[in-house]
Amino acid sequence: MITKSTELFTRAQQSIPGGVNSPVRAFKSVGGTPLFISRAKGAYLYDVDGNKYIDYIASWGPMILGHAYEPVVGAIQAQAVYSTSYGAPTELEVKMAELIISMAPNVDLIRMVSSGTEACMSAIRVARGYTGKNKIIKFEGCYHGHADSFLVKAGSGMATLNIQTVPGVTAGVANDTLTCAYNNLEAVKNLVAANRNEIAAIIIEPIAGNMGCVLPVPGFLEGIRKICNEEKIVFIFDEVMTGFRLAPGGAQEKMAIDADLITYGKVIGAGMPVGAFGGKKHIMEVVAPLGNVYQAGTLSGNPIAMIAGYTLLDILHRNPALYSELDEKTIYLKNGLQDVLQESGVPFVINQTGSMISVHFSKIPVTDFASAAAADNAFFGKFFHAMLRRGVYLPPSAFESWFLNNALSVEDLDKTIEAARESLKEICQ
Ligand SMILES: *Cc1c(COP(=O)(O)O)cnc(C)c1O
Repeated sequence: MITKSTELFTRAQQSIPGGVNSPVRAFKSVGGTPLFISRAKGAYLYDVDGNKYIDYIASWGPMILGHAYEPVVGAIQAQAVYSTSYGAPTELEVKMAELIISMAPNVDLIRMVSSGTEACMSAIRVARGYTGKNKIIKFEGCYHGHADSFLVKAGSGMATLNIQTVPGVTAGVANDTLTCAYNNLEAVKNLVAANRNEIAAIIIEPIAGNMGCVLPVPGFLEGIRKICNEEKIVFIFDEVMTGFRLAPGGAQEKMAIDADLITYGKVIGAGMPVGAFGGKKHIMEVVAPLGNVYQAGTLSGNPIAMIAGYTLLDILHRNPALYSELDEKTIYLKNGLQDVLQESGVPFVINQTGSMISVHFSKIPVTDFASAAAADNAFFGKFFHAMLRRGVYLPPSAFESWFLNNALSVEDLDKTIEAARESLKEICQ
């Protein structure tokens, strides 16, 4: 069928690689062509053909209180007339740093950047500069942005597109990135033992969201924390997804585990391009101009981005009840989906924590990348399209977490559950 979206996608492919500015948007793993969005409000996305969708992506996280959230829109409008960038310090940046330090544990100093990628890339540079060591450990299926060092078993879009190694990343860089299976503490121990005094950092998604939603088993993060203490390794929590989403203090607060460095993105900018890396004072002091680890950005701390992020974070900070509301909604959805999936007889696993949830068509628990990849992800593709036809916009890949936003009503959740019932019936016929 020719729609405005399909026409735009054809046109987009003439001027943009693959027609999109970020790969997962292309719908490659679920098939079909992407919808072009014209606007969004609250819990709903509207495409260029005038269709309305209940949104479970929330711009991959930032829209935690819904789209076009009035306080954020108003703050951006008010700030814009004072110019969109100065390239000089502002009070807003100080307020933003102070607010984050008051919300998150173990953040004594924090530096703003413009994306989660930049935050993670800078955090490992800091860890290397601080420890004088080169290697890092990351976990299979964890995504830390597209910097060279992280494009090794990186989950998310790379898993979606089945890309194993990335041309353009040199072997030298890739060799300094060691990988382990998520939730396998023994493998971490062995890797650290085999590379004594060479590991600068262990970076992890404390709750993984880039292989679907995968939770750490009890003792896993605690065990890594202990290894890092013993071996003088910097423990980096990549909270680009979980920061300000799972609790005001992110996964550190929720799991009650301390990180040395923490990276942020997504919610921190309320939909504007913002990232940040921060952590313990003695480590962050190596960052220039205080120390010699150079890191900079023309648009870092941009006033429009800061006012958007500050406004949202301040509301989250002052209203912790929002998190319980989000949790309740997510559990309501989980229970509803569980019922209809059980009814359908299709094997499934639902992983959920806070407002992150994912459905895997799997007979075995999904605890790492291998088990996420072993699920029936072709079935997920069918489910995705059946849901989309019924007005529910899920992430277009089985390797992505769904993100709930607090603009979702119980009626929206009921519609979603009903859409799942009908979708499963249609597929299983
Ligand atoms: C999205 C994401 C990133 C990358 O952030 P960008 O803003 O897309 O560069 C890094 N880490 C995690 C855990 C993410 O989910």
